[in-house]
Amino acid sequence: MGESVKKERKKLSLATQIFIALAIAIIVGLLMQKHADFAVTYIKPFGTIFLNLIKFIVGPIVLFSIMAGVVSMRDIKKVGAIGGTTILYYLCTTAFATAIGLGLANIFKGTFPILSVSDLTYEAQEGTSFMDTIVNIFPSNFLAPIYESTMLQVIVMALILGFAIILIGEKGRPAVKAIDVINDVCMKAMEMILKLSPIGVFCLLCPVIAENGAMIIGSLARVLLVAYIAYIAHAVIIYSLAVKALGHMSPLKFFKGMLPAILFAFSSASSVGTLPINLECTENMGASKEVASFVLPLGATINMDGTAIYQGVCAVFIASCYGIDLTFGQMLSIVATATLASIGTAGVPGAGMVMLAMVLQSVGLPLDGIALVAGVDRIFDMGRTTVNITGDASCTMIVSYLLRNRIKSWTDKDKEAETA
Ligand code: ASP
Repeated sequence: MGESVKKERKKLSLATQIFIALAIAIIVGLLMQKHADFAVTYIKPFGTIFLNLIKFIVGPIVLFSIMAGVVSMRDIKKVGAIGGTTILYYLCTTAFATAIGLGLANIFKGTFPILSVSDLTYEAQEGTSFMDTIVNIFPSNFLAPIYESTMLQVIVMALILGFAIILIGEKGRPAVKAIDVINDVCMKAMEMILKLSPIGVFCLLCPVIAENGAMIIGSLARVLLVAYIAYIAHAVIIYSLAVKALGHMSPLKFFKGMLPAILFAFSSASSVGTLPINLECTENMGASKEVASFVLPLGATINMDGTAIYQGVCAVFIASCYGIDLTFGQMLSIVATATLASIGTAGVPGAGMVMLAMVLQSVGLPLDGIALVAGVDRIFDMGRTTVNITGDASCTMIVSYLLRNRIKSWTDKDKEAETA
């Protein structure tokens, strides 16, 4: 516990540093309005370096965290029963989340201004057909998915390799250990990169403010507000209804029990980092340990309702900054892609912003638009991570309740096998 409190303090101080960096970026950006060129030429590249470093590590993190999750399940039948219910719940809640994000962003769309996005260029791209999207989920090369950061292909790769390791049984033990270690190494590398967040945030935001002035601060505050309204609406409405109706649990008791994990997620902006506390909270609320230890790590990687909300809100925001009106078809496409993109998002800070590219691309929106929200990503991230881990916990409580009889029979069988 002492360890985790210490860790929490460390994370909190990083969050404080980021807020200070945000404030300084706004002040310096405003002061540099007449020298916007300088900010874009000499400050922005350091922000780009920071984003590049995050992109560099995200592929390996997704690959190894999912593989580690799969191989930790061992028995494929249990995985099927728990996994089926889990994935269905995750997909449905995430689709709801994107719809809530899109819906609210559309309601507030009128307040998003059309910005002077001078260095951002927009070229309409041809959308990919539905069948091509399906085909593109499957990798045709062992290295390309990592190299090109195509997260869904990385997930498929992780699943195939993970199942293969389970299927070769005892022989696969060293691989399981190796994957765990590599996963830890990748997480450490991410942590090191994230120590640069304050500098990254400053270098990304300062040029944007210098170019657009006070107008963008107002519009960023508005888009942040919309995202937070959507986060809260989703958590309060969808999770309360779900835990009450499917998990037979009082929503109040659920949120109260989740408070330590919620606070940690908010300050650390990492679902994976919040895992140990989330496990503790859900078990304290009566979840089955077997369910929690599979559903939570899986959720920390693939279930990102907050991220989906953020992607929906940002897609509408970026479109309106460029003066583009999204069609209903494009919105549906965003719901589908944001649901899939959030699955491919690693539970680490900043990952959702990288995946925003996939959502924008799916409807031919300019990728450069990410620069508009990149500076304040940390503030979006704190909220979306909180929603992400609350969704994982709600699923754990529900699956524990729904499968309680089967879980009992598995436990009885395991005990019988042990005594035999
Ligand atoms: N930081 C988020 C999480 O860990 C992922 C994201 O960036 O959206 O859940």
